[in-house]
Amino acid sequence: MDRQHGFLDTPIEYLKGVGPKRADMLKKELNIYVFDDLLTFYPFRYVDRTKFQKIKDIRDELNYVQIKGHITNLTTVGVNRSARLVATFTDETGSIELIWFNGFKWLKDSVKIGVHYIIFGKPSLFNNKFNISHPEIETVESADASPVTVNLQPFYSSSEKLRAGGLDSRGIGKLTKTLVAQAAGQLPETLRHDIIENARLMSREAALSTIHFPQDQNSLLKAQARLKFEELFYIQIKLLKQKVYRVQKIKGVSFGTIGKHFNDFFHNNLPFELTGAQKRVLREIRQDAATGKQMNRLLQGDVGSGKTLVALMTMLMALDNGYQSCLMAPTEILAQQHFKTLTRFLEGLDIRVEILTGSTKAAKRRVIHEGLQDGSISIIVGTHALVEDTVQFKNLGLAVIDEQHRFGVAQRARMWQKNEITPHILVMTATPIPRTLAMTLYGDLDISVIDELPPGRVPIKTLHYWDSARLRVFGFMKEQIKKGRQIYIVYPLINESETLDLKHLMDGYESISRSFPLPEYAISIVHGQMKSAEKDYEMQRFIKGETNIMVATTVIEVGVDIPNASVMIIENAERFGLSQLHQLRGRVGRGAEQSYCILMTGNKVSSDGKKRIETMVQTTNGFEIAEADLHLRGPGDLQGLQQSGILDLKIADIVQDEKILKYARGLAMEIINTDPTLEKPENAVILNQLNTTYREKGNWGMIG
Ligand code: ADP
Ligand code: MG
Repeated sequence: MDRQHGFLDTPIEYLKGVGPKRADMLKKELNIYVFDDLLTFYPFRYVDRTKFQKIKDIRDELNYVQIKGHITNLTTVGVNRSARLVATFTDETGSIELIWFNGFKWLKDSVKIGVHYIIFGKPSLFNNKFNISHPEIETVESADASPVTVNLQPFYSSSEKLRAGGLDSRGIGKLTKTLVAQAAGQLPETLRHDIIENARLMSREAALSTIHFPQDQNSLLKAQARLKFEELFYIQIKLLKQKVYRVQKIKGVSFGTIGKHFNDFFHNNLPFELTGAQKRVLREIRQDAATGKQMNRLLQGDVGSGKTLVALMTMLMALDNGYQSCLMAPTEILAQQHFKTLTRFLEGLDIRVEILTGSTKAAKRRVIHEGLQDGSISIIVGTHALVEDTVQFKNLGLAVIDEQHRFGVAQRARMWQKNEITPHILVMTATPIPRTLAMTLYGDLDISVIDELPPGRVPIKTLHYWDSARLRVFGFMKEQIKKGRQIYIVYPLINESETLDLKHLMDGYESISRSFPLPEYAISIVHGQMKSAEKDYEMQRFIKGETNIMVATTVIEVGVDIPNASVMIIENAERFGLSQLHQLRGRVGRGAEQSYCILMTGNKVSSDGKKRIETMVQTTNGFEIAEADLHLRGPGDLQGLQQSGILDLKIADIVQDEKILKYARGLAMEIINTDPTLEKPENAVILNQLNTTYREKGNWGMIG
């Protein structure tokens, strides 16, 4: 441990009031091991103790209240274990019951009827009446005598176990109070002085003491700003430093030339003009891949924006420079589809493309392994079967990974080892990530965005119907089928139980079968409990146009491209997250026909649910949707981001603190640009903090 000050690393058991037993609880329940952990265990809420409420104004169970009044009745109810002390507490507007379940003997003897008290606690609703259990109680005189020491009382999150051990919010508050007092003079500054001055930040010591025990709202805000800035600043410093390291230290293959394969394809096989966005992204990739540094790039683009084509043309660049490429998809169906697409695009060009998945037969597998090793296969498409150790390349220069969030970080990392020189990595995602999140999450990656759809697409019409309009929707479906279109109907996972979900799906399937009977109509069904061969069979029937309707759970969410399927009906749409709704909608609108997305909802829709539906009806822009999603749900719920660890922010919120984030990133960039290794003396404080704060964390900035 190379902290300058050992104080912060002092084991928590040495804090007065802790000891081995409580230390154990703090470690297990809150991950608090050393003084520093407790000091940065910030309150999640503050309650203004200078304000008083009237009893008649108590409306909900959510907030703490402070009331002034007197006790009009005091009795003990029940015996032994169920004994409790019940008081009727009255102010000039009404009364409320106060209840103590245990440890009330002292209270019972000291509390007096008629004396004025101040009560503080959290109301709960019981038998249609509010009561407060275990309130704090204090006489008005003693409250007046001791000038209020806290105006804003901090609240800390606790747990059942901690509460049982005396560490409820108040108990934790006592510990932080002791610690903050002891820490005076022991908290070194962690930011450069000029940064503090320019941004008018509070000192670290002041911020840490204020965050726990603020004197007023204003100083609380300043303390929060300081700590948020620090948190975001160090994340950016870390990410950017890592990027510099990657660029400087990790050698990459160079795609210096654009040659025959690329040009032949471009002039003879490309069936349409590239969109402006595709051209721009190809330029970005080309510049990056030609430098001799390893490329680690995220390609974002809405469903249908033409990412696959960009990937293909990048693979041709690799080929022109003597390198093999692989394209990895998350499912067998998608891999098949990519394989078909690539083969079709490359028709007539002498380029060997193969596919390798879990279901590739042993004999074929051997042939492919050979072809990859002798270099005769230029492009291999596949599933995670590609990362297995038996798959060896002659000279892999590029790994394209589709739908990145479906792959674990570890799986992706294995692609890095497939070549002596790390191949270029291109990760494609159709789940747009809002800028603020991208900055935090992928700060060390280069990002390319395809923000334009190929021309001639008819925008998808999105409509919302209540369940009661089901017959009209069925009528509409029949019209569409008559025109030769195909239809998806998607059911959500409603219950945690698979059996119940399946029942829900099967009920829907039955009702649809009744309204769309054979032989006029044919229906496919796909759900998570089918064997994958069965699933593929049903899917294939739909792809071939043998069925009109595909009833499914969200298994069809990812990338399947069936241009003739032009209607997407989403049942219980209120139960889906925004990004999932958007992904589902992306399954249609792939052909020349007018496509529809119909969102069906029950009669009870929460206000968030309503906002999601409204957003879907209003926009088809994936970035707008991602932004709305981030605001509605907060970043923690965004698909696939939970395990990244980077969102374990202690105080900052990347949605609300976007301004601070931008400022922090700008500053971090300036610093890393002028002093990439942080070796200048004035940056010693930054380097030191970086090494101590992040010493144990993994390499989460690297993806691909
Ligand atoms: P994504 O993978 O981004 O969802 P795809 O690459 O599957 O999108 O492209 C969607 C469809 O659009 C494909 O049928 C593809 O051939 C077509 N496409 C791609 N680029 C263009 C373009 N520039 N002009 C017209 N059609 C295009
Ligand atoms: Mg795609």
